[in-house]
Amino acid sequence: MTQRTFPRPTPIVYARGDGIGPEIMDATLQILEAAKAELELHEIEIGQKVYERGISAGIEPESWDVLRRTGVFLKAPITTPQGKGFKSLNVTTRKSLGLFANVRPCRSYHPFTRSLHPGMNLTIIRENEEDTYAGIEHRQTQEVTQCLKLISRPGCEKVIRYAFDYAERGGRRKVTCMSKDNIMKITDGMFHRIFDEIAADYPDIENEHMIVDIGSAMVADAPEQFDVIVTPNLYGDIISDIAAQVAGSVGIAGSANIGESAAMFEAIHGSAPAIAGKNVANPSGLLHGAVMMLVHIDQTEVAELVRNAWLKTIEDGVHTADIRLADNINPVVGTDAFAQAVIERLGDKPRRLASATFGHGGEHVAPPSHPVEKKEIVGVDVFLDWDESNRDPDVLGAALQRLDGEGLKLKMITNRGVKVYPGGLPETFCTDHWRCRFVAEQQGGTVTHEQVIALLGRVAGAGLDFIKTEHLCTFDGELGYSLGQGE
Ligand code: NAD
Repeated sequence: MTQRTFPRPTPIVYARGDGIGPEIMDATLQILEAAKAELELHEIEIGQKVYERGISAGIEPESWDVLRRTGVFLKAPITTPQGKGFKSLNVTTRKSLGLFANVRPCRSYHPFTRSLHPGMNLTIIRENEEDTYAGIEHRQTQEVTQCLKLISRPGCEKVIRYAFDYAERGGRRKVTCMSKDNIMKITDGMFHRIFDEIAADYPDIENEHMIVDIGSAMVADAPEQFDVIVTPNLYGDIISDIAAQVAGSVGIAGSANIGESAAMFEAIHGSAPAIAGKNVANPSGLLHGAVMMLVHIDQTEVAELVRNAWLKTIEDGVHTADIRLADNINPVVGTDAFAQAVIERLGDKPRRLASATFGHGGEHVAPPSHPVEKKEIVGVDVFLDWDESNRDPDVLGAALQRLDGEGLKLKMITNRGVKVYPGGLPETFCTDHWRCRFVAEQQGGTVTHEQVIALLGRVAGAGLDFIKTEHLCTFDGELGYSLGQGE
């Protein structure tokens, strides 16, 4: 298994961003310098000014070269322009640099900051590149739209292995997988299965699986029971916000986006334009992003120094205006004064809050190879846009059965997943979107591309509007498709 190593000083790219971005970046860099982080800093410009120059991604093309060369990006928040034509810089960066894991620690600092759950200290690791966020959507009929949910084996392996490495390195005791594999048995089922496979390589770390609906409810209600949570993209997006909210750490949490050759670190909040330039913003979110960066580049001793100084600062009641303290006896300080307070406490350790220990180790970056399974096509689902004969499935079924032949026969028709032919119930509501399943005529037989093309020719010849097809495949004899409800 390969592990990344970073030179010292470590080249990093940083961007000041928009709104409060420049102030909190300056404060963060001052603290890193005072803590003697060994960094070689390269600045790039991102955000509003770049968008205004007509660059729709919000980042200059040459900045990508610097980013790829250094592979470490500390990013202040930017103001995302409203309107069409602008691309989200975060999404572009994530996809372009292959940042497969989003890491978001959510922790309560009770009694020094307000939190609904004083004992909470969990990290959510979310798959970052695929799932419904691949952005593949279609409108297929007058009534029906679809979004493709893509879950890949390498995508699951990378993020799940990262989660276990993260747990191991940080001395965490448990990794919880959340999915909805009771319903999505193939996509979420793969995520869960690979979780079980990889968990076996980490016998010292407890593992468990939870269905995401009850899992998110537990994050909101009893977050103390979680340690590290790993989950596909969409669920992770939602759970991360729930967790940050109940921890009371929205304004002070950092996050990381990790890839095989690059990583990006930031605060979870935005550019807060209303308070920009007033020296009142809290630099803690970006500072926590920077602490995660230091751990990532294996400068864990500096990460611990900064983190402990920050914890001591909070314990001493030094805080910016956004932090509502339980007692409210200490005066509010500005961005610069807060940074100075952290610098003055470098070398101190907190007295009541647990001090930071990050551990060395680095993460595994090469996913293990897996055997290639034998793939065979055993049928095809032909999707139709059909809105005739009062949408009577028996009429459509009879028309399609006349197209049987050349090795294929109609097996069933479903509407939004429910079998309506043969033998559907009259109560089932039907849209204009029909999935018509054709399988090999011979039991256990296979189907060729030519047979599928010929079938589509017959479908078109019968005046039916096909909108897409999906092959029904088996892999080493195991079904690679779901059965219709009632099939
Ligand atoms: P926001 O996080 O900027 O602000 C929400 C609230 O929190 C505001 O009241 C703000 O004053 C306060 N706040 C945020 N950070 C603070 C800090 N460090 N110190 C003190 N108070 C702080 O969210 P928003 O208002 O929805 O978005 C503002 C802009 O930021 C938008 O253009 C949005 O698109 C962008 N944004 C960028 C990122 C990013 O770059 N990663 C993330 C989220 C939002």
